[in-house]
Amino acid sequence: MSSIRYDRIHDTHVIIAPERLYRPDCSFGADELQNVEPTCAFCEGNESMTPPEIFATRNPQTLANTAGWQTRVVPNLYKAVQIEAPYAHHYGLFEYHEGFGAHEVIIDTPEHLTSMTQWNAQTAVQWLKTLRARVHDLRRDQRMAYISVFKNEGILAGATQTHSHTQMIGLPFVPNVARENYRRSYEHYKQHGISLLQSCVQHEEEQQERVIAKHGDFTAFCPFASAYAFEVMITSQKALGQIDTLSDESINTLAPLLLATLRVLKAQLVCFAFNLVITTPPLQEGSADYGMLSCVDEACRFAVRIMPRIYKHGGFEVGTGVYINPVLPEVAAKLLREGIDV
Ligand SMILES: [Zn+2]
Repeated sequence: MSSIRYDRIHDTHVIIAPERLYRPDCSFGADELQNVEPTCAFCEGNESMTPPEIFATRNPQTLANTAGWQTRVVPNLYKAVQIEAPYAHHYGLFEYHEGFGAHEVIIDTPEHLTSMTQWNAQTAVQWLKTLRARVHDLRRDQRMAYISVFKNEGILAGATQTHSHTQMIGLPFVPNVARENYRRSYEHYKQHGISLLQSCVQHEEEQQERVIAKHGDFTAFCPFASAYAFEVMITSQKALGQIDTLSDESINTLAPLLLATLRVLKAQLVCFAFNLVITTPPLQEGSADYGMLSCVDEACRFAVRIMPRIYKHGGFEVGTGVYINPVLPEVAAKLLREGIDV
């Protein structure tokens, strides 16, 4: 059983999860594509190798935990937190939560594809709809304060399974970084009557220097202060809701832009490992405590952040939280803009 410890020295939390120690590391090089492992638990036909599914998009004639699905969601076997753990918060100098939470794996495709760059638009649409359904379901649990939605692709990004998959971790607390992000968004909105990301995208579109492409309501750009070389953010000026409330129309527009962005990154970087994060605002008013949740869609924009993992971080980054990025975002954006094909 894991425990979520509050680090009073650094004002952050740490999840101590002994079960994670035993997870198999099946990672290969980021570019070792289509290398089908006969024992891949995520491939269609091997459904019995995973815990029973929580959710799937599947052909209506097929049964749960059998072949015939497009996306499949299962509990993470090597979970950082678990839904069965007691929901308990212990106060004191050494403060901790019992390891309550949700840790789910979304198997993105029944085929053994190892990169999102190989997906077709329909796969990306199904994937977004699956994330929408799972976040929608998890947020009904009043104990969840925050849901992290992320994807690690390639060994340099921390992936230990080559079969394309995404993870979702629901937590009983709001991580500091998220709390601070949304506090700033809310303050900006209160002061200027416009969302912070909306202001940034407006400015990016006026300047054009760091914009890669615009497709429907969505804009892909390299953020002004990119922490990672070739970092890309996809968001919109319009309030389109959050991952659990995006419309089908928004999903259908976002999917091709996201894939085109990943493909041009792959073309430019060749060896392309990345972390992808979908922003999610805090879920519970008490945890956020800024009155923000009453205007969350106006104050916060849905966004996808793609962080290529080219350079490793050292003591400076770890010690200060300040990143050194050797590539000008303007140069990265120019290269990506010239090659993108949405
Ligand atoms: Zn597989």
